[in-house]
Formats: sequence, C-alpha cells, structure tokens
Amino acid sequence: MDRDDASGAGRPGAPSPVESAPGAGPAGDLDARLAGALERVGHATRVALWQQAKEHGLSPVQVQLLGRLATAPPARRRVGRLAAELDVTAPTISDAISALRRKGLVSSSPDPADARIQTLELTPEGREVARASAAASADVDAVLAAQPVVAKVDALGLLLDVIAGLHERGVLSVARTCTTCRFFRRADPRAAEAVHHCGLLDAPLPPEALRVDCLEHEPVAA
Ligand code: SF4
Repeated sequence: MDRDDASGAGRPGAPSPVESAPGAGPAGDLDARLAGALERVGHATRVALWQQAKEHGLSPVQVQLLGRLATAPPARRRVGRLAAELDVTAPTISDAISALRRKGLVSSSPDPADARIQTLELTPEGREVARASAAASADVDAVLAAQPVVAKVDALGLLLDVIAGLHERGVLSVARTCTTCRFFRRADPRAAEAVHHCGLLDAPLPPEALRVDCLEHEPVAA
C-alpha cells in the first residue's frame, strides 16, 4: 500500500486535503467543499465535451459553437454575441467558424435589416453533428433525473445566485438568467408564501421555474 492509500485520500468519504485543512471554520470549510464539488462537475462536463470533440474531429470550442447555433435565435448567432456568450475572443470564434465552414457544418446569410451583419446557421450536416454532440450531457442528465425534485430546486436557486455573483465580478460576461435580469423581482423572504416575479411577463416565478437561458432576458443596467 502506498502513502496515498495509507492516508485514505481518494476513498469515498475520506476527507480531501481541503476538508482537513487546519484553521478553516465550518462555513469556510463548507464553501471550500462546495467549490471543490462544482469543480468536479465542471471537470466531468469538460471531459465529455473533449470526448465529443475528438469523436467528430473538432475542437471543444467548435462543438460548443454547434450547440449554440442549434438553439440560439438569429440575433444571437453572430460572431460578437457568440464570443461574449462563450467568454472567448471574437478572433477565436472567427477562426472556429472558418474551420466549421470548411467542414461544411456552418453557413451564413446577411441580416435582412443590415447586410453588413452575417447571421450564422447550421447546415444539415452541422445539425446532425450538433445533435450527436448533445450526447455529451447524457451522463449528467441521467444522474440529475434520479435526484429528488426538492433538492434540485434548492440547487437551481443556489447555482443561479452563484452565476449572478460571478457575472457581477466580471468572471462571466453573459448570464441570461433570471437572477441577472432587470425584470426579476426577488420575493421578500419575510413575506409568507413569497414568490419571485417576472416584470416582463407579469407572471410569478416559482423557484422551479427560474430560467437559465431566457430569450427575453435583459441585463440590469450598470
Ligand atoms: S424576462 Fe426572462 S430572465 Fe428576465 S425575469 Fe423574466 S423570465 Fe426571468
């Protein structure tokens, strides 16, 4: 048995180096473990993305682009918007689009309102690869499907607040979530049966209905 095995590190339930770090208070320790858990989930989705990219002879950013182009409305299928949403530079997106064009997976057409702007779209072949690449999230989807609804609703609220905090700090350029939207009216926690509200749709937003990628989202003015 090597030293790592002897310490028990890596075994289910064994404390990680962060968990056993001296001097961490209970709250700080919980934060560190949550951050570690988020990193693990992020790692799993990155690995799945890399696998899909390898399978289709694409780069990870090219796979992400195909996924965005498969679901985004025309106004979001432009180089600048895609660069902001994926938190990469416009030249990186332009290079990826050029490669996808050469492979026959993406085409473009001038915007009817402004011919200088090109709106990107998937070719039938690109749509096929995008559909196959969506399998990258199949494992995460399956694990989530098995979790209790109450826990998922709580987790959704927490993650949306984390996204809002990261957006506020400039780590995420674009966050099309309710908690970063100018129409979001947060429920008063002191009110009985309080529920969030969407000022645009004039509709209640119960915790399970909060959106992660809303078409109507408008950012809070700086
Ligand atoms: S417009 Fe969309 S993102 Fe904004 S509060 Fe309403 S549902 Fe949420």
